[in-house]
Amino acid sequence: PRKLVEVRDLRMYFDIHKGILRRKVGEVKAVDGLSFDIHEGETLGLVGESGCGKSTTGRAILRLYDPTDGSVVIDGVDVAALDAGALRKARPQMQMIFQDPQASLNPRMTVADIISEPLREHTDMDAKARLARVRELMDAVGLNRRYADRYPHEFSGGQRQRIGIARALALNPKFIVCDEPIAALDVSIQAQVVNLLEDLQRKLGLTYLFISHDLSMVRHLATRVAVMYLGKIVELAPRDALYARPRHPYTQALLSAVPVPDPQVEATRRHIILEGDVPSPANPPKGCNFCTRCPKVMDICREVVPEFREHTKGHVTACHLVDQEQDASPLRDNDKI
Ligand code: SF4
Ligand code: MG
Repeated sequence: PRKLVEVRDLRMYFDIHKGILRRKVGEVKAVDGLSFDIHEGETLGLVGESGCGKSTTGRAILRLYDPTDGSVVIDGVDVAALDAGALRKARPQMQMIFQDPQASLNPRMTVADIISEPLREHTDMDAKARLARVRELMDAVGLNRRYADRYPHEFSGGQRQRIGIARALALNPKFIVCDEPIAALDVSIQAQVVNLLEDLQRKLGLTYLFISHDLSMVRHLATRVAVMYLGKIVELAPRDALYARPRHPYTQALLSAVPVPDPQVEATRRHIILEGDVPSPANPPKGCNFCTRCPKVMDICREVVPEFREHTKGHVTACHLVDQEQDASPLRDNDKI
């Protein structure tokens, strides 16, 4: 499949200011040099603990933030480099589904107004055509079209997320960033929304970046998975390879904490407990950014930043230990990952 999204060396730094003069005293490297592709029609899972830079990555890719550096080519266009006018034209291609449908929907707008807002902004459809499109979208996401004139507070959390999904679909995007789209929902509702996202992907040929801290959910949904720690991707692999044989010590620790359904298997599993806290992204460690917590840390780790290398087909890891285990060759800029 062709690459729909190509992210190269994406950086998102935020300045830290202090005092009444707002002097710059440092910067937070929230996203620190990410490179990866997303193939057309796939779901790339982006996982990691809260604060690791996942949401910032999603927002920087969609130009909801202006990246500090790097390029984000979506369907042949570098959206990181577009001026405001060109960005407006590119906007319909790329949309976002937010974590908290409650906060992302205007409480004073009806469902029809919310879903048709992108149509008013980006198309010259008349009111009648917009209403027809709203009804079509409500059908597509499983909302009763008779509720078009109701307000968000009249709906349940799951229904509100369906409204958010309908709005995201209004302009027929190719690429959608789903930022923890089910994290705020009741567990009983989560599977319904996930199934809806999968259905829509099949029917409409959508490509997803699916941001989540829930590794079981990502295992169910994703084609490939990228693991983030402290602003960097530490491992990226096809889904089955990642879950069967995680290579980075951080991925190993994350996966060891995911319970297995079979209680007998669960009882024999070793849980890796990580010591200490995640360092501040304003002051990341020298060398490997995981070296302050890694159970397998070596001397070199505290000095040298490990390179992101492909050691088996499509499986890329940034870790000195993995490098030593085999003859890995560095990944070049244009290599498919
Ligand atoms: Fe651990 Fe060293 Fe690998 Fe970093 S490079 S994950 S500190 S073994
Ligand atoms: Mg987040």
